[in-house]
Amino acid sequence: MSDLRIDGVDTVLLDLPLHRSHRFARAGMDAQPVLLVHIRTRGGVVGTGEGVVPGGPWWGGESVETMRVVIERYIAPLLLGRTVDDIAGIQRDVDDVVATNLYAKAAIEVALHDAWARCLDVPVHTLLGGLARRSVPVTWALGTEPAPVVIDEAMAKLDARLHRSFKLKMGAQSPVEDVARVCAVAEKLAGVAGVRVDLNARWDLLTSLTHLPRLVEAGVELIEQPVPGAEFEALAEINHALPIPVMADESLRTPTDALRLARLRAADVYALKTTKSGGLRHTKAIAEIAAAAGIPCHGGTSIESPLGTVASLHLACASPAVTWGSELFGPLLMRHELLTTPLRYADGELYLPDGPGLGVELDPDAVRAFTRE
Ligand code: MN
Repeated sequence: MSDLRIDGVDTVLLDLPLHRSHRFARAGMDAQPVLLVHIRTRGGVVGTGEGVVPGGPWWGGESVETMRVVIERYIAPLLLGRTVDDIAGIQRDVDDVVATNLYAKAAIEVALHDAWARCLDVPVHTLLGGLARRSVPVTWALGTEPAPVVIDEAMAKLDARLHRSFKLKMGAQSPVEDVARVCAVAEKLAGVAGVRVDLNARWDLLTSLTHLPRLVEAGVELIEQPVPGAEFEALAEINHALPIPVMADESLRTPTDALRLARLRAADVYALKTTKSGGLRHTKAIAEIAAAAGIPCHGGTSIESPLGTVASLHLACASPAVTWGSELFGPLLMRHELLTTPLRYADGELYLPDGPGLGVELDPDAVRAFTRE
C-alpha cells in the first residue's frame, strides 16, 4: 500500500450558483458557498471533504469563512505527518485544540475517509461497515412562494417522477399565515405525496401547541424542529402531544444529544447530517443510538454540493436505521455540474456511485470557474 502519511492540506472556497434562490425563515441565498478541503498523502493520494452550512452562520454559528481559518490555522498543522487511517486519534487530538466547530471538523474527517479508502482502493462505505441499501428516497424542498405556485412546482416534480414527498420551510411569516399556506399545499397533495414541514427552531412551545394540530388535520406527515435546539423538554412535550412524528434537527448534533432525546422520547425521527455532527463516524454513532432506541433516521442536508452529498449518501446507505428517506437534493438546486460524472437521481431516489473513496471525481474546470477570488 502507498505511503499514508499526510503531507498537505489545502482549502478551496467555491460559490455555487443556484437555479432559484433558496429561502429559510430568516436567511436566503442565490449561491451556496462551499469549502473544499483536500488532504494529500506522501503516496500521492488526495482525499476531499466539504465544509458547508445552509447559506450562512444562522444555523449553527459556523460559516465557510470561519471553517477556513480554523482548518488552516489550527487543524491542518496537527495533521501533517499523521496517517490518514489514524482517524480516531486525529479526532481526539483535534478536539484537544479546537472545541465545537463540528462543520469544519466534518470537512476534515470526510477528507480523511476519502483518502484512506482511496489508498485501500475500496469505497468509503466499506470503512463504515458495508451497505444496508444502495439508494435513498429524496424529498424535495419546496419554495416559500404562495401556495398555488408551490403546488404547481410539486405537481411538476411528481409528474416527472423526480420526488414522492415534499418539505416546506416555515417560520418566515406569522404563524397564522404560515399555517394557512402550508395547509393549502398539504390538502392539495393529500393522498398523492407526503408533505413535511421544517420550522427551523422559529416557534416557542405555546405557538407550537396552538398551531401544529391544524397541520396534522391538513395531512402533514412530519414536523421538524419547531422549537430552539436547546429546548429538549419543549420538544418532548410537543412530540407527546401530536399524533404524527416530530423530527429533531437543531437539537441533535452529538451522540450525547441522541441519548438525551431518546431518554425523553423528544423526537420520533432523527435528522442525521454528517456536517453538523463533525463527520461520518459521529453521525454513525448517532444512528446506532437511534437504532438501539427504536428511533428511525432521515438523511438531512446542509445543501451540500455533489461531493458533500455523496458523503452523506455513503453514511445513509451504511446505516440501517435510515428508514425515513433523505433530503439529499443539494445538487439539484445547483445550476452547474461540479463532478466529471453527475450523481444519479431517478424515480425519487439517489443512487450510490461505484468507485474508490467517495466514488466521485471533481471537474477541475468547474472548480476553477466557481473559486472565490
Ligand atoms: Mn432542518
